[in-house]
Parts: sequence; C-alpha cells; structure tokens
Amino acid sequence: MSTINYPQFSLDFHKNILESLEDYGVFTTDKHGIVTSWNKGAENVLGYVEQEICGQSARIIFTDEDRKNEIPEHEFTEAMEKGRGQDERYHQRKDGSLFWASGLVFPLYDNDQNHIGFTKILRNLSNRKQAEEEVLEARKYAQSIVETSKEPILILNADLSINSASKSFFNLFNLDKQEVENLNLFEVLSRSLDPQALKEQMQSYDSFENLELIQPQKQTDEEHILLVSSRKVFQTFKSIGQFLLTFEDVTSARKLEQAKEDFMNIASHELKTPISVIRSYTQLLGLELKEKSNDRVSKILKRILHQSDHLNKLTSLLLDVSAFNAGNISLNKAPFVLLELVLEIAAEITENANHQIILQEISDVRVMADRSRIAQVITNLITNAIKYSPDADIINLNLQVDDSKKTVRLSVQDYGIGISLKNQQELFKRFSRSNHKKARNIDGFGMGLYLSQEIIKAHRGQISVISEGENGSTFYFDLDVI
Ligand code: ADP
Repeated sequence: MSTINYPQFSLDFHKNILESLEDYGVFTTDKHGIVTSWNKGAENVLGYVEQEICGQSARIIFTDEDRKNEIPEHEFTEAMEKGRGQDERYHQRKDGSLFWASGLVFPLYDNDQNHIGFTKILRNLSNRKQAEEEVLEARKYAQSIVETSKEPILILNADLSINSASKSFFNLFNLDKQEVENLNLFEVLSRSLDPQALKEQMQSYDSFENLELIQPQKQTDEEHILLVSSRKVFQTFKSIGQFLLTFEDVTSARKLEQAKEDFMNIASHELKTPISVIRSYTQLLGLELKEKSNDRVSKILKRILHQSDHLNKLTSLLLDVSAFNAGNISLNKAPFVLLELVLEIAAEITENANHQIILQEISDVRVMADRSRIAQVITNLITNAIKYSPDADIINLNLQVDDSKKTVRLSVQDYGIGISLKNQQELFKRFSRSNHKKARNIDGFGMGLYLSQEIIKAHRGQISVISEGENGSTFYFDLDVI
C-alpha cells in the first residue's frame, strides 16, 4: 500500500496566503464575535488595522440598521446550524462609508471539536453592485423613454414578453397595461391580428423595417394597416430588454395617398377631352380666319396651340404616373431591333433641334419589349440631353452589348449642365427636379425620369446616370437581348 506524503506547512505559510488575498477581508472572532485576527485584505476593505480592531466586536462592521435587526447574531447562528452562513449586504467601513460585500461565515473548532469562534471571509463587491445599479439605471432610463413616447413603441425581454411599452401602444391595440405586462408579445397581438409574419421576421432577422401587418377592426369591418420595425438592442445587458419595436398606423396616410392618386387620375382624364376640344376649335379658327388673319392673330393662335400641347403632354404624363402607381400598366411585348427604334426617334428629334446626334457604337440585337414604352424612355432621355445642354451641340448615343450578361445598354451622353452626385438618385423620384441653377429656367414636370424608371423596371431592366458635375451627363438603361 502506498502512502501519500502531504507537505507540512508552517503557520506562517497560512498567514502569508491570507495576507496575499488583498480583495478578501478574512478575520476570526471568538465565540462571542470578538475579533481575534485580521488580515491585510480586511484592513484594505474595512479600513481598520489589526491592532485596533482585535478585541472589539465584529458587529462594528455592520450598518446601524443591520445591528438593530440583529443581523450579525443571525449570521453566527446560521453558521452554527448549517455549517456556514452566507449573505450579501452593505457593510460599514471605519470612516462610516458603506460598501456592498458578500460574506461567508464558518464556525471554528479546536482539535477536540469544541466550538471556539468564527471566521468570516468578506469580499468587496462594490464594483459589481455599481455595475448592477448602472444596468438598473439604464433599464429605468430606457423604460422611461419608451413609456413617455408618443409613438406606439415597446421593449421586449429576451423571452419576447413585454418589458415596457408606451401608452399609445396600449391604445393602438386596445390593451390594459397591467393585464399584458410580462405576457408574450405574440399572445398579446393575436387578440387583434395575425402575428405570424412578424414572428417569422423576428426569428430570421436581428432588425427590419416597415413590415406590413393588417389589423381588422371589430366594430367597423375596416382594416388598419400597421408598419412594424424591430431592432435587437442591449445585447450585453439582457435584463434591460432585447428587442425594440415600433408600430406605425399608416391607414390614414395610405387613404390620403389613394385619394391623391384618384384625384390625379380623374383630373387628368377629365382634362384630356376639353384640351383636345380647345385644340380642334383653335385649328378650326385658324382655317376660318385664313384670309382675314393678320400677324398678331396668327401669333395668338400659335400660342394657344403651343400651350394646349403643353397641357396635353402634362395630362398624358399624369395619367401614366397614376397608372404605374396603381400597377395598372400592361406591356405589349414583341421582338424588335432596338437600333431601328433609336434611329427613328433620333431622326424625328433632330428635325427640330440644333443638336447633332452621333451614333458611336451600334448593334442590331433584338429585344423583347413594349416598343412604344421603350420609345417613350428613349425620347425622354434624348430630349432631356438636348434640353439640359443648351450650350453644347452634340449628343452621343451608344448601343453596347454585354455578351456574358446577354444585355444591351443604350447610353445617351450630353455635354450639358451635369448633375451633382447628391441629386442623381433623387431625380428618378416623382416630380423631382435638380436644384442646378441653370436648370431652374428650363421647362419640365419632373415626371419623365420617374416614368422611364418604372417602364424599364417593368421590363426587369435597369436605368441609371453617370455625371461628374460640370462635364455633362450620361443616362443609360439595360435590357435583356433575345
Ligand atoms: P423634366 O425634365 O420634365 O423636369 P425628368 O424627370 O425627365 O423631368 O427629369 C428630372 C430632372 O432631372 C430634370 O428636371 C433635370 O433637373 C434633371 N435632368 C434630367 N436629365 C438631365 C440631363 N441630361 N442633364 C442634367 N439634368 C438632367
């Protein structure tokens, strides 16, 4: 049988170990709680040196209130009964200041198992406590922002229960605050709508914006449209909340938008007939007055025709915009040679223009597209190129084929006023016009590029612009070749 030789340690060795535990206050007391030994850590943590504390009651390190409530006595009793006493509470330093500490108390026995006193290990947890308090503060802060927000907004816990929510959230879903706090969000939402889409979205993405949910209205048979955005937050401090959700009721905004579209549609429809009637009567008047007419009269007739042309264009554009918005546009696709269309349009435009159109690179590829809609895009790009380059006289056209992508790109390059980088994407939006000072005096409705983009998108193509400011612009679009 082998024997194990345990090393023999001197009393000094144990004392040295105790002394090296600087963050741990370790001290012993006799049976009555009178301090009998005190290590360096206890001196650091509590401020008393060994000579002054030995002989005094260990109750001195408890707060006044704990002393009154006989907490020290409870600790010793617990240690005697269970073999150890444990707690976490404020303790008091020599200078009266308080700090948060965890304490472990063990009973001490001599070799004959006679109870001779206690040993207490005290650990300063001020930093941890402070961090916890900071988290609590942050939580309260986040909650107060959420609760006072005018928007429907809420914070969810990691288990998707409601941590806190604004009044308008409760109003939006007709909920009672007390009734739903700490309940699972989906359980709460399912009382008034189907939350499946939201559930799936939250499972798949850490954050997302404007997910549309339909909220049926019990009393009115109507439906409300809600947009939900979600974001994962406070990853480190899970106790503050895990998701921040905002809801937006866009029902009225959508209705208003629809009313605007309807108005635009009706107004442009209704305008079309009187405009063409005015046009016809003006032309008739011109014929009637032919012999009797003088310079002044024919100038006026010309003006009327010019302005009614202008109105005609505007109403057609408005009708197109509403049709695209409502998704009511159908494409009559057929195969054709893009170059032929480009040549036709270029010839027609140059008839009345001072600019020369130069075809640089050409190709005879065919595309499967709506010829008249593509013609509308090309006309818009070329007339813009002419309109916005009043001091230049050349427009370059290029038809380039990308064999690997099987696409053809038509680019229209001008040497005009150019477009700032900031403006470039904006211009494809409805009614958007550049803020270039030279563009302000040039007539336009700000709808051509929007419609061109819609047409190209409907063909699954792309349209874009390159412009380096003062050196003109190049607009281009890509279409699939067949
Ligand atoms: P419109 O020309 O009728 O205003 P568009 O939608 O065709 O409408 O164009 C939107 C805006 O984009 C124009 O108002 C103009 O400011 C700018 N833009 C379009 N084409 C050019 C171009 N070739 N050079 C400089 N600016 C342009």
